[in-house]
Amino acid sequence: MTGTAVAGAEVLIGNRVTPLTASARTTVRNPARTAEVVGEAALGTSADVDAAVGAAHDAFGPWSTTSPHERAAVLLDAVAELRPLAAELDQLLTREQGKLRWESRLDVGGAAHILEYYTSLAAELAEERLLRSDSRGAVWLARRPMGVTGVIVPWNSPVYLGFLGIAPALMAGNTVVVKPSELAPLALHRVLRTLAAKLPDGVLNSVPGTGSAGAALVEHPLVRKVFFTGSIETGRRVLAGAAGTLKRVSPELGGNDPALVLDSARITDQLVSELVQGVYGMSGQVCFNVKRIYVHRSHYRDFTDRFRAAVDEITVGDGLDERSTMGPLNNRAQLDKVAALVADARATGATVHELGRKLDPATWQHGHFLLPHVVTDIDPRADLVTREQFGPAVPVLPFDTEDEAVAMANDTEYGLAASVWSEDRAHARQLAGRIRSGSVFLNVHRVGASSVDMPFGGFNSSGLGRGHGLPALEACTEPQTVADWTDTSGLPGPAPARARTPVEPR
Ligand code: NAD
Repeated sequence: MTGTAVAGAEVLIGNRVTPLTASARTTVRNPARTAEVVGEAALGTSADVDAAVGAAHDAFGPWSTTSPHERAAVLLDAVAELRPLAAELDQLLTREQGKLRWESRLDVGGAAHILEYYTSLAAELAEERLLRSDSRGAVWLARRPMGVTGVIVPWNSPVYLGFLGIAPALMAGNTVVVKPSELAPLALHRVLRTLAAKLPDGVLNSVPGTGSAGAALVEHPLVRKVFFTGSIETGRRVLAGAAGTLKRVSPELGGNDPALVLDSARITDQLVSELVQGVYGMSGQVCFNVKRIYVHRSHYRDFTDRFRAAVDEITVGDGLDERSTMGPLNNRAQLDKVAALVADARATGATVHELGRKLDPATWQHGHFLLPHVVTDIDPRADLVTREQFGPAVPVLPFDTEDEAVAMANDTEYGLAASVWSEDRAHARQLAGRIRSGSVFLNVHRVGASSVDMPFGGFNSSGLGRGHGLPALEACTEPQTVADWTDTSGLPGPAPARARTPVEPR
């Protein structure tokens, strides 16, 4: 069945939408039925980026000089408009991205949820912290907005991940240019239009397009800050592109998250079901999904048997069909990548268990579908273990000692998240300290294990700095010290009669 085009993602400059031109657009197709065109999206050029950055630059002065409480009031007003969009756009996001409908609601719902959270931090921005007040004077620390901020978004959770940059940037007084992925721009565009209409002209802009539009944004001299979420390879290019103008960059990159099931764990239905969700949620396309499972040898047989049985219950089909418990992959390249990693594991002697069932075998070939895979007897050096698969296939490996498990978990260039599974919570917490990753979850590891107020980011090549919570606000503001060496109002009694200018040796 072929649907009609229902949506468009155009270049959005302030509140003006630039109509699509025939020469610069792409079709967005349904990953569950690739013959179905869901919508059309602009492929922004460097001229579009320049226009959007210009509008954001013009809007920066007035927006940045409003108080944090004034901005919070404007943004909270917009939250009321964004909230109903989760129910309105879940179908559209599933049709362009592929994930299950409830997963889409969570994704779109992130816009209102994250924006509302950052408005609650207005006081943090308003506060000028007094660092000292003594006989030598007074020093305050303030946080100032940076300027035009680029937010470059991947295709896996476009609205949620976009707002992890957009919300703190706007709240901090920056103006924003978003670069949605050309593979899932439609629902995000609708959300951005709704928000832009509630903001002064030019405060929020968007240029959908491929990597070249992203690169133009990264290199633009008027852009001061970039939030980038995507792969490590692209993250390196973004850092190199930003070097010429010394932009501040927050890269949130890929992960190859290990789950360590210790001797002290109990293999229960709950543990198995949590790990199934942790691996196969959103068809494995979550940066901090479980990507490798290490199980103490005393549980290995029991765990793999029960895990495989639970994975076999998965029904793969169109995310709009309520009988599906896992949707397709988003795009052909991702499907090919995961299939190649599984084929390579098989070729090097691993045992590959292809599990689950096809909801509709007759239309299977028309979408980017892949059955869930569990891979055992695998060489720890196989690519499926050492590289991020970002899909529904997981290697399960045994270990004998915790030292061995920790060494295997840390033997990676990644370091986004990890989990420890044990009945002994104190011991699990202690072990967390030996794992080289930005987050360690105890007895949980799936969407929902991290939250917007919880600092998030990677060790090693998985990123720089931290997003979520206060760290994201700090990442899009410049600290400014204000020193008044003549202000002795903090001193009881008369000011001492001597020169107060301090001498700092540097
Ligand atoms: P990607 O790196 O291919 O693309 C991400 C975005 O960057 C897209 O909008 C793309 O158009 C743009 N881009 C491409 N080349 C560019 C360039 N040279 N300059 C600027 N922008 C450019 O990633 P993807 O395939 O869309 O997403 C999957 C990856 O993202 C996975 O590795 C996943 O782990 C990672 N990810 C990380 C997080 C996190 O928070 N750490 C969250 C989600 C996804």
